[in-house]
Amino acid sequence: MEISFEGKHALVTGAGKGIGRATALALARCGAKVTAVTRTQADLNSLVQECASITPVCVDLADWGATEAALQDVGPIDLLVNNAACANLQPFLEVTPDKFDQAFSVNVKAVLHVSQIVARGMKARGSGGSIVNVSSQASQCALRDHAVYCATKGALDMLTKVMALELGPHQIRVNSVNPTVVMTEMGRLGWSDPEKAKTMMCRIPLGRFAEVEDVVNSILFLLSDKSNMTNGVTLPVDGGFLAC
Ligand code: NDP
Repeated sequence: MEISFEGKHALVTGAGKGIGRATALALARCGAKVTAVTRTQADLNSLVQECASITPVCVDLADWGATEAALQDVGPIDLLVNNAACANLQPFLEVTPDKFDQAFSVNVKAVLHVSQIVARGMKARGSGGSIVNVSSQASQCALRDHAVYCATKGALDMLTKVMALELGPHQIRVNSVNPTVVMTEMGRLGWSDPEKAKTMMCRIPLGRFAEVEDVVNSILFLLSDKSNMTNGVTLPVDGGFLAC
């Protein structure tokens, strides 16, 4: 299936590493003009070195005011990938308010905020658009030590649905991808222990974790006009984990 984003402007958050970085590069390969947003300048420097056409924006998305300022001049956006997130693992009884607030600020509040900024422009131009939120299998299945992360992703799935409901009439589609474990920096944090990894992998019918490209391909599909009638879905990219 050939997907072209020629003439489109895409914005990807959390584009410094992992899934977000690979998504930004894939979008550029498919012809999109890409704005990459993350908070570590060194990651943006290396990304631009790898693909000179990408426009870097360095901001901590947990900071509402700084985000507003950083994105005011990005111009019209057609495609948005809300990918940035943090995962602070703590047993439920040890969850601290600072980690709770940080996770909800990045994983939920920043998604709402960046989407508001982008969707206001889409609505004003009447051009429509497509938004993909990067959620997780953890939105729908309890995982040990993931109380806050699971709660943020559960909230994100519901946010995706309400955005789909309210933005749909403006021809703005909003969907999410919900991956299983991917061995990025974040994935390694929770699943490097081989025993832990084995217990998770046993519950995935395909018997493996997802590759970054598996997630990127699903994101590209949902961004593209190949999914024109798909709105408000939470698409598992989980080898069947959530089906069992
Ligand atoms: P990584 O940790 O590899 O990359 C996350 C990126 O987001 C980094 O570039 C990071 O920057 C950036 N980021 C984090 N917080 C902020 C912030 N406050 N402001 C700006 N940028 C920020 O994660 P993954 O690629 O693995 O994860 C991408 C998405 O996929 C996330 O939404 C995650 O929840 C989801 N996911 C991941 C899974 C996995 O197993 N890896 C499984 C299911 C879902 P920096 O490094 O500078 O903090």
